[in-house]
Amino acid sequence: MTPVLRSYVHGGWHTPTDEGRPLSDAVTGEEIARISSAGVDMGAVLRHGRVTGGPALRELTFHQRAALLKALGGHLREHREELYAVSARTGATLGDSKFDIDGGIGVLLAYASKAKRELPNDTVYVDGAVEPLGRGGTFLGQHVCTPRRGVAVQVNAFNFPVWGPLEKLAPAFLAGVPSVVKPASPTAFLTARLVELIVGSGLLPEGACQFVAGGVGDLFDHLTGQDLVSFTGSASTATTLRTHPTIVRNAVRFTAEADSLNLSALGPDAAPGTTEFDLFVSGLVGEMTVKAGQKCTAIRRAFVPEEHVDAVVEAVSAKLANVTVGNPASARMGALASLEQREEVRRSVKALADAGRLVFGDPDTVDLLDADPDRGAFVSPMLLVGDPERAEPHEVEAFGPVSTILSYRDTAQLIDYAARGRGSLAGSIVTADPAWAREVVLGVAPWHGRLLVLNARDATESTGHGSPLPQLVHGGPGRAGGGEEMGGIRGVLHHMQRTAVQGDPDTLAAVTGRWVTGAQRHESDVHPFRKHLEELRPGDTLVAGPRVVSQEDVEHFAEFTGDTFYAHMDADAAAANPLFGERVAHGYLIVSLAAGLFVDPAPGPVLANFGVDGLRFLTPVKFGDALTVTLTCKQLTPRDGADYGEVRWDADVTRQDGESVARYDVLTLVAKQEARP
Ligand code: NAP
Repeated sequence: MTPVLRSYVHGGWHTPTDEGRPLSDAVTGEEIARISSAGVDMGAVLRHGRVTGGPALRELTFHQRAALLKALGGHLREHREELYAVSARTGATLGDSKFDIDGGIGVLLAYASKAKRELPNDTVYVDGAVEPLGRGGTFLGQHVCTPRRGVAVQVNAFNFPVWGPLEKLAPAFLAGVPSVVKPASPTAFLTARLVELIVGSGLLPEGACQFVAGGVGDLFDHLTGQDLVSFTGSASTATTLRTHPTIVRNAVRFTAEADSLNLSALGPDAAPGTTEFDLFVSGLVGEMTVKAGQKCTAIRRAFVPEEHVDAVVEAVSAKLANVTVGNPASARMGALASLEQREEVRRSVKALADAGRLVFGDPDTVDLLDADPDRGAFVSPMLLVGDPERAEPHEVEAFGPVSTILSYRDTAQLIDYAARGRGSLAGSIVTADPAWAREVVLGVAPWHGRLLVLNARDATESTGHGSPLPQLVHGGPGRAGGGEEMGGIRGVLHHMQRTAVQGDPDTLAAVTGRWVTGAQRHESDVHPFRKHLEELRPGDTLVAGPRVVSQEDVEHFAEFTGDTFYAHMDADAAAANPLFGERVAHGYLIVSLAAGLFVDPAPGPVLANFGVDGLRFLTPVKFGDALTVTLTCKQLTPRDGADYGEVRWDADVTRQDGESVARYDVLTLVAKQEARP
């Protein structure tokens, strides 16, 4: 008998207590493994995540978690070839396997690097600015995000057995929330190998990633309001799961990435012979054939101006005729994931053909390269021309190498047809006309999670219609599931609880680990620029000044820099200016003078100033005004593995009457003490 896939639960590999169901090689039909979760105690799985995985993850800062994800990406990359070999048995060509496996590893690495850049080296995420809630500045509000104390249950679809689980694991892991990975059965043998590699790497804390091969049993009955469910799959399963009584009763955070009838629209400007026409045709053929069209983002509805329908049919058919189908080792397009899936596609194509006509391919026959049509789950690519007034092209998803061409008369009609898909993950608009692109983007955006505008100007660098990107939202409204699984740091925050904390400035400074306006400042004899990273504390302050700004200063600065704007140089014109009434100092002169006041010139721990954030000039500075600057250490971000960290300083430049004239954050790199030779 073939091996039975094991689950990795509560700290060990569990062998099912029954024989399980067979899983077949999508190319040869040969049984390659069996699957079952019999004997897994689902309640204990969730408890193990909550009791062991969660605390271990929460001890790490965002940056430490990011470093582990990066290392995991490197580890998996070293085992890519092995994963490709297993992936071939799902019917994938080498290109398809790379899409899934390299894409998944890329998501880990992209998330790791975003986390290092955009999240603090801390365990709490401070969301947005401090909200002043009282006139006296003693009562403030601040949103903070903390990891949910539950488990992220991740139910995946069969078509991306590597990318799907990694795309969900990365943001949960960064957030400090343990994952339970549940793959779709038909391709679970590949996810099982992936998890063996993850566990074998020893990189992730125990409990951070568990794996259930087979059904979830009564797992959903044990969910609490601290857990999350991220589902990818069909709209019907999404509906079953989101209405599960425990999910409803406990308000379990539930997100779904379901199927959708994604569109690509050819612009009226993109006539045959233009680059955009060719881009549209190749994009459509690529989306139909990569992964044999088993991509949730694949183009299902191809909208074409009435007058170009025949030309598009001809060009797409000519390209499809060159696509060889068969053994993924030699053909350009491999098999569907299972024979059941092939039956499903055939049924859907027949429904679509009832509302139009099949112009390329045949659901029941296909010429194969080096493969057996009775044993492998092969179908030919199929192109239809549909009636856009019928419901089927907007409703029936044939999850295979299938697309329908639909004609449109004008932009308003295109937008109306787009909405009939009732919500999509991705759409593309192929045009060189930015004004038309704007009209269509704004018209169809409410039904889309992501829109690509493709033309000769961005084609070379474009990542294509179908590729979700970890930096961008992946998900869509309505039929697409209503979720936003990725989307950079949004995906991380999805796994955290946002809480509005109200209190006095010192309390908020203590909670967030960063100085806020109104909190205590500490002045000392030691200039803060003489302190190493470890010696600095939020609240360390330097007050420097006053420095009187003279007419000579302003004129010198104007001539030196060439900024002779009338408000600084022309008394009559400045007098007529409704904001100034007289000549004023340059804002950049104020910032420069402030630096002259607070800088400690000798070599020391401060290595560089790498910018300012949030610079605002609040009150005009007139000749004779005296400036004082208060520089306060606001936030420390040590960089793991580097000899320095980032220090954010609050700079408040005030006039002789105490009024703030400029306010901004100064960003510096400061050496660690441990780095001293
Ligand atoms: P599916 O049948 O809905 O299954 C999806 C997942 O749900 C599988 O892991 C499945 O496990 C599990 N599942 C099914 N019934 C369940 C239940 N009662 N309780 C708990 N889990 C349950 O979808 P599929 O056929 O695998 O995937 C194809 C569909 O997914 C297509 O429609 C495609 O558009 C969509 N999809 C969407 C995205 C996206 O990002 N939006 C990505 C990929 C695919 P078993 O396999 O063990 O039954």
